[in-house]
Amino acid sequence: MLCNTKQLLLAAQQEKTAVAAFNVYSLETVQAAVRVAEQEERPVIIALGERYFPTVDVEGFAALVQAIAAKANVPVALHLDHAYEKASIVRAIRSGFTSVMYDGSKYELAENIRRTKELVELAHMAGVSVEAEIGSVARGDFSDEEEGDGTLTDPASAQRFVAETGVDFLAASIGTVHGMYTGEPNINLELLGRIREAVSVPLVLHGGSGTPDDVLTEAIRAGICKVNVNTEVSMAAVAYLVEAAQQPAFHRAHLSTIMESMQQSMVPVMARFVRLLAHKR
Ligand SMILES: [Zn+2]
Repeated sequence: MLCNTKQLLLAAQQEKTAVAAFNVYSLETVQAAVRVAEQEERPVIIALGERYFPTVDVEGFAALVQAIAAKANVPVALHLDHAYEKASIVRAIRSGFTSVMYDGSKYELAENIRRTKELVELAHMAGVSVEAEIGSVARGDFSDEEEGDGTLTDPASAQRFVAETGVDFLAASIGTVHGMYTGEPNINLELLGRIREAVSVPLVLHGGSGTPDDVLTEAIRAGICKVNVNTEVSMAAVAYLVEAAQQPAFHRAHLSTIMESMQQSMVPVMARFVRLLAHKR
């Protein structure tokens, strides 16, 4: 069933687990995510970034996810990831997304608060929950995200931001990157602990891909309730296509079988995250 993202995250906060938010871009990615969630009997968040709005029929996509979610026997939420424009947030709310992320992280704190607060009021009127970000997640390898400067989240600013905006969950920048790490990951769990003490709303980790399992587990124990996963899933599908294209039979294959196999190639990566986030090994 389609569920409000906030309810999923508050439940995860209670049980000290996290919900996987998979970035999706096609029918296959949506079906893989929901299939994994059902197999693992865990909720899942389907996330579409504003950056895909130029190429995706947003209303059609939302209707598709809602129809798949309605049949699913686990909770499914539909989330707008990294929106920079008010128009995108309004469009997502109208289309039935259950949560939106407003990314005002490029603005200084007071301006980010002013802009976020306005959008929180708008979204809450429609019963849609809001994620926002302070600090900025940097960009690693194979990423399809905007560049961030890697500024870590200041706990006192986080406290003020949450209090003044009324945001429902907060993306904290603690050293993860969008995409794959180019060197050793340097993730500040001590800082996460201080942010956790400063705010009571569920915390979100962007840049799940490539983050060591033990760090993810510790981060979830320290208050992370939602982990965004994008790059590793994309890499698995691309690796499948590259490998398959080298087989002679590929060139005579039907697109439907290629798409089905590509969907299958994403399942193990998604399942690993869903299990890890639920502390199931
Ligand atoms: Zn992100």
